[in-house]
Amino acid sequence: MSIEITDVTKIYGSQKALDSVSFRIDQGEIVGFLGPNGAGKSTMMKIITSFLPQTSGQVSVCGNDVLLESMEVRRNVGYLPENNPLYYDMYVKEYLSFVAGMYKMKNSGPRVDEMIGLTGLVKEYKKKIGALSKGYKQRVGLAQALIHDPKVLILDEPTSGLDPNQLVEIRALITEIGKEKTVMLSTHIMQEVESVCDRIIIIKEGKIVADDGVDEIKKGAKELRTILVEFDKSISVEDLLKINGVDDTKDIGDNKWLVSTRETEDIRPVIFQFAVDNGLSVLTMNEQKQSLEDVFKELTS
Ligand code: ADP
Ligand code: MG
Repeated sequence: MSIEITDVTKIYGSQKALDSVSFRIDQGEIVGFLGPNGAGKSTMMKIITSFLPQTSGQVSVCGNDVLLESMEVRRNVGYLPENNPLYYDMYVKEYLSFVAGMYKMKNSGPRVDEMIGLTGLVKEYKKKIGALSKGYKQRVGLAQALIHDPKVLILDEPTSGLDPNQLVEIRALITEIGKEKTVMLSTHIMQEVESVCDRIIIIKEGKIVADDGVDEIKKGAKELRTILVEFDKSISVEDLLKINGVDDTKDIGDNKWLVSTRETEDIRPVIFQFAVDNGLSVLTMNEQKQSLEDVFKELTS
């Protein structure tokens, strides 16, 4: 087990930022940690990386307790904090050598060069960090998190503030890195999770409200399936509601209807048979895919 969180609570003064949080992340997983601002994402990540003690509960990373074995934890964890604090006056290579020194790495030169290559900084490594674009600063942040070859990567909002091109590049880089590591990344952007992660943990007001695979979360959050169906003639609501399995309908005009069901089975064949029995033609019939965005809104609002 890479990360094991058991019943963790964090109280700042009088405010409970985390409330009995438990989850486990296996080696090799890429997990999206999703939640609105103030949900407790950064707090959880600071605890996992041994930067902040929890008020109660247990946290272990690669079998090491974050309170009792924080040195081992830091050796196993690469951390990209929120807002990626960097030394703007340092040169890229100088900074990465400095970070390697903090990990007491000897002869870090080749490793620094390797990280510069991996994170696509070859053309920029002679520049001062302050002179880099936001996307390149983020690459430096990732290189910094990876320099000591940690088993676990904790990335706090790694793509916030990036433009669409940089976003795609950084996501691709995280996906690439994630092949070899356990990765937990926080975000409030849904598409991110869909494109990068295998699993999602959703947190709201310090409590976990969902923890499942990306596909399962999309399917399960709402047991309602909606089908768009278009007939060739007008039809009454009463008739539509008579169809076995139809729980709700919405007239969207031009003989088009949104038909909802709580059945887990596909009711499209039943709708089709209904049309045949009533002398109607079905011109269109599509199941409406629920976007992760919808699920997120539903779980966190
Ligand atoms: P997120 O990263 O999901 O936006 P945070 O973990 O930063 O959420 O914050 C969770 C809650 O804890 C918020 O309500 C925030 O205001 C509060 N909080 C965070 N850090 C501190 C702190 N150092 N002192 C007091 N309250 C804090
Ligand atoms: Mg945060």
